[in-house]
Amino acid sequence: MGFSEINGNTRVCGLFGYPVEHSFSPAMHNEAFCHLGLNWVYLPFAVSIDKLKEAVTSICSLNLVGVNVTVPHKQRVLQFVDELEPAARIIGAVNTIVNHNGKLIGYNTDGQGFVQSLASEANFYPRGKKAIIIGAGGAARAVAVQLALSGLQSLYITNRNQEKAEELAWHINKSAATAISTIPWESNLLEQSVAASDLVVQATSLGMSPHVDQVPVFPFHVLTSQHLVYDLIYNPGQTSFLKKAATQGSRTMNGLGMLLYQGVLAFQLWTGVKAPVEVMRYRLLQQFDPK
Ligand code: NDP
Repeated sequence: MGFSEINGNTRVCGLFGYPVEHSFSPAMHNEAFCHLGLNWVYLPFAVSIDKLKEAVTSICSLNLVGVNVTVPHKQRVLQFVDELEPAARIIGAVNTIVNHNGKLIGYNTDGQGFVQSLASEANFYPRGKKAIIIGAGGAARAVAVQLALSGLQSLYITNRNQEKAEELAWHINKSAATAISTIPWESNLLEQSVAASDLVVQATSLGMSPHVDQVPVFPFHVLTSQHLVYDLIYNPGQTSFLKKAATQGSRTMNGLGMLLYQGVLAFQLWTGVKAPVEVMRYRLLQQFDPK
């Protein structure tokens, strides 16, 4: 349906963030609603930090089905929802809220989106596998927790700010059986951790457009065709990190799949309907051109 068909029965969901102008989510979700003929609409809401509480309260007052939550609200919003699903609680961040008859449930589909993209696009399942993650910011946290909850055997974490890596390790240790070790930033120990890993996740912002030449210090020579190397960055589509990994024969993936599947999972939580994944992927790709 088009906007001229919005009527009294239209279900409304959206995005709370600040800013929201550059988000790809409205186009992705509205395309999916349109494709399935659902009388739904997804709207961007620019919510400043001091208005977050009021905005969350308005989900019930306005009878919104739910919202996505993005920067800078993902952590702060935790205190305003009624219930948290386990991954959101352990990650300490919410990116999706569902309005269940006036009760607001906070989910985090970022990490689940990452794991889903591994399964759907690389036939890679974390159970029993070993991984190393470079970075310990918000995205790394969601990915690391979800890998651990998905049965990863062991995880190495390295981050410029070592304290953040230690804190993340401690957090995961409380909730999952995965063996966690932290590796000092740029240390020689990286070589053996990478050699022992099946999956390498680049989760820092180094290499993100426009700073496309930035790359974390990393022992690329240790990579082989047995490694799957995933950069969470989706712009550019192929970072310098992925290019270097590819020259070693490793399989590589960019962050588009994580972006897509976090949306797919949110869509399914709100509508209860199977999301049209390829329609959503196509709409995302139309919005930028991964090289
Ligand atoms: P955060 O700001 O929370 O974390 C940034 C991370 O990058 C930290 O680990 C930080 O280290 C590290 N970092 C930044 N600058 C440097 C530097 N100069 N040298 C070394 N390390 C550095 O950001 P997010 O976790 O939200 O995002 C990280 C990346 O993931 C971004 O590129 C983002 O685009 C991508 N992303 C992708 C998503 C997807 O759906 N594909 C979703 C969300 C994010 P330190 O702690 O030491 O500062």
